[in-house]
Formats: sequence, structure tokens, C-alpha cells
Amino acid sequence: MIQNPKEAVLHSKTVDFVSKDHQLFIDGMWSESNTNQKLQVENPANEEVICAISVASPGDVERAVQSARRCFKSTWGSKFNPAERSKLLLKLADLMERDKQVLMEIESLDNGKPLSKAQYDVESAINHFLYYAGWATKITGDTLPVGNQHIALTVREPLGVVGLIVPWNFPLMIAVWKLAPALACGNCCILKPAEQTSLSALYLADLIHEAGFPPGSVNVLTGPGLPTGQAISDHQDIDKISFTGSTAVGKKIMQSAAQSNLKNVSLELGGKSPNIIFDDADLAKVKSSLIWTSFYNSGQECTLGSRLYIQRGVYEELISHLQKEAESLSIGSGLSDPDLGPLISRAQMETVLGYIEDGKQSGARLVFGGRKRQMESGRGYFLEPTLFEYEDDSIKIVQEEIFGPVVAATVFDTLDEVVEKANNSKYALAAGIWTSDISKAIRISKQIDAGNVWVNGYDLFDPCVPFGGFKQSGMGKEIGKSAIELYTLEKSIWFSA
Ligand code: NAD
Repeated sequence: MIQNPKEAVLHSKTVDFVSKDHQLFIDGMWSESNTNQKLQVENPANEEVICAISVASPGDVERAVQSARRCFKSTWGSKFNPAERSKLLLKLADLMERDKQVLMEIESLDNGKPLSKAQYDVESAINHFLYYAGWATKITGDTLPVGNQHIALTVREPLGVVGLIVPWNFPLMIAVWKLAPALACGNCCILKPAEQTSLSALYLADLIHEAGFPPGSVNVLTGPGLPTGQAISDHQDIDKISFTGSTAVGKKIMQSAAQSNLKNVSLELGGKSPNIIFDDADLAKVKSSLIWTSFYNSGQECTLGSRLYIQRGVYEELISHLQKEAESLSIGSGLSDPDLGPLISRAQMETVLGYIEDGKQSGARLVFGGRKRQMESGRGYFLEPTLFEYEDDSIKIVQEEIFGPVVAATVFDTLDEVVEKANNSKYALAAGIWTSDISKAIRISKQIDAGNVWVNGYDLFDPCVPFGGFKQSGMGKEIGKSAIELYTLEKSIWFSA
């Protein structure tokens, strides 16, 4: 692997890890796919092949499910007591802390994200293991008032074998949002990272092995949606799929679940989130965060404020502020820790450029950006942060998720007008509201269609706060106590005198 001199010098563990091809992690061991099929892993900052991963076939999925089921029945889901699960989750968090730099570098190489942003992801992942290690010993039911002749109670039980399917934009963090609660509740897991960004999940598998998790408690299967993801969602002996990704694939997962064994499904899907700024907002606060609420992770984040609504009195001032900031952002390889890294792939870059062209054709005004950013090497999938102004709510760049550094902005006058515009979307994942008027903040946060609302802040996450979308942005809340409900079944038991 050739490194650019501006990039961080890689840890020797990172170099060793990315210098070899990778197998599937099934039953606590590394094994080759039974079809021997491989997929090349590309660094999106320079288009070089890093290494290769295996493509898990339906036969490999079958091996992993059998291993997970065995483990569920023999150890993790039945014989282990909650404190033993808790200890292993804490051990894993310690090992991740030890190898934090390695995980950050792997994530940056594989996904393209700036190192300091990868640090946030890895620390968030560690904090989720710490948080759910606490939960493992505190999963309780209720006792219920059914009269003198009976006692009724509920218990929360693990589902069994769960399939965890993950996207490429926050590979390690989203995998752990699922793994940590699923394991704490006593489930055995089949984790499928996205085919573009599987390396951090594979490194995590090594740490899971080192921590001493029983074989089969976590299996990591790499490969694309077809055949690997589909074989997981079609499987007759998987009890649940927890999926994060696009709305289109989320619908396919529900179809597979319905047509196979009616497995339980939870979905975290696409977004097109409104970020609403009123004239009376604390403008210093808005100005310090607007660039990140618009373009964090090169716009490849489901919650970003990709629809920007600004009240007339502060519109011009904020747009010109955003333009100045956007034009001074550094863009480059994640390993040189710029403000923005590349997009994940050529295909994603072409999709985003297609939306930019569509925006121009549909009458929106390009305020800044809109082009590919050429690096000295002539390689990599870099785009300029881009802003359009528009009037017609029905155009594609306002209605569809672009998943790149493209924001559509418009002006509004009244609260009712902006609520109507903001809710005119099939998505309802997140929303930002900026105002100094508490009554206005309360009214609008209740009226807005969104699973997550941030008032005078944006993109705030914590292991204890549930997260998830409404409408076509998803079903079921992850993180916090809600994830315990997601990864357990509630059984009611009656005792009669
Ligand atoms: P994607 O839907 O293309 O892929 C997601 C995962 O599903 C990948 O692992 C992929 O291999 C797998 N997959 C694809 N087809 C499948 C099939 N038929 N059966 C089973 N699995 C299949 O999404 P992506 O391009 O990786 O990620 C971007 C999308 O993810 C965006 O829409 C974004 O909004 C969404 N996302 C949502 C959240 C959230 O929390 N709501 C968070 C991050 C990303």
C-alpha cells in the first residue's frame, strides 16, 4: 500500500491487517467461503485496492445460522448468566480502547472518513458496549395487578438468532448500535457489514475472539446484498433482522421476512431532514454549527439537514455565511484528517452528480459547489459541498435522499408555512429547530414529523437516547432502553391459586 506523505503513518497492526485478504468469521473461527468468491476492497480516496474480502454464499449463511443457534441453546442465550455477558461486553470495550487507533485508521482507509471523525465513531462504539454491559443485568419485566386468585408477570427473553445488516456510512458505529444490545439481551448474531466497508467489522471479530466470546455468539459474514444479505433476510431460522440502510432495501427486507418465517424486523432507513432556523435564533450558535449540520461526513449521513429552511430576516446573512465556510473547508484523504473526505464510491459520486444536474435542470439555483474536486493525483471520489436555492417543493433534489454534500435551501415567513413544508416528505427521520422562543420550540417540535428533534443543537447522540425514524424513515427505535425492547420478546405468565 502506497501512502501519501501528508497522511498519518499507520500503526503496524493496521498495516498487517489491511495487507492480507479476509475470510468469514463463523463459529468462532476464520473460514473461506464455500464458493471461494472474493470482492476487492477499494480506498475511495485514491481508488487503490486495499485487500479482498470473501463473499458469503447461502451455504455460508446456513453454517453461520447453525453455529449461532447451537450457541444460543448451549451457552450465550441459556446457560450464561447476565453477569457473564456483561463481563465479556466490558472486556470487548477494553480491547477496542486498546486498539482505538487501529480501528480509526481502518475505518478511515476503508470508508474515506477523516481520522478525527473516525475517532468519534470508534469512541461511540466503545461507549455503546459500556452502556449495554450495564443493561445485561437489568432486563426485567413487570408484576401485574390481576386480583387475589392469580399472579401475572412478564419476562423479557432474547429472540434467538438475529441478523444485523449494516450500511457503509458509519460502518463500525452502526454495527455496534445493533451488536451491543442484541448481545446484552442474550441473542446470537449474524453481522453483515456493507460490502464497501467490511474491514472494521472483521477487525472487531478478532477482538471478539480475543475477548473469549463463545463460538457462534457473533458471526461476521461479508458480501453484497445479493447473495449474502438476501440469504440472511430469507432464512427460515433467523428470528429477527435489524437493518440500517436505504428505504428501497428496507422494503425488500420486509418482503423477505413476510415470505419466509415472519421474522421480526426493525428498520433504520433514509432521511431528508428539515433544519429550520427562525429569525430569533441565537445566530452565533447557528453559524458555528451550520456547516456541520449540512455537510458532515461529506453529506453521507441519514440525519443531516439536507433541507434547509431559513426565515426571511436572517436568510441572506446565513446563506452567505454558509458559502464562506463551505468554500474554506479542506477536502482530502481521510488519513490526512481534512474537514471532508471522499464519497464512498464512484457509483455514489455519479449518483450525486446526477442529482446536481437534475437540480440545475429543474429550476433550482446553484449557489455554490456542484463540481467534482480534482486532487493532485487525479484520483478519488471528491465533491465540493453544494447548495441550491429553490421555490418548488416538488423537485427531486428536495424530495429524494441524495446522500452526498448537497443541501437544498429555501426561505419561509411563518411557523405554519414551515411546518407544512417540512412535513411534505415521505421521510421523517430527524429535524432541527433553532429559536430563542420556548413556546415556538414546543409547538413546532410537537407538530413536526420526525423521530428525532433537536432544538438549538443538531445531530446529538448518546447511548441512552433512543433513535429512529417515522414514515418511510423506519420502524422501531434503536439505542437506549428502546433497543432492549427491540432485541427481546415479552412473555406473559399467569399463576393461578
Ligand atoms: P443499502 O440499503 O444499499 O445497503 C445497506 C445494507 O443492506 C448493505 O449491507 C447491503 O449489502 C445490504 N443489502 C442490499 N440489498 C439487500 C437485500 N436485498 N437483502 C438484504 N440486504 C441487502 O444502503 P447503503 O447505500 O449501504 O447506505 C445508505 C443508506 O442507509 C441511506 O439511505 C441512508 O439514509 C441509510 N442510513 C440510515 C440510517 C438510519 O439510522 N436511519 C443510518 C445510516 C444510513
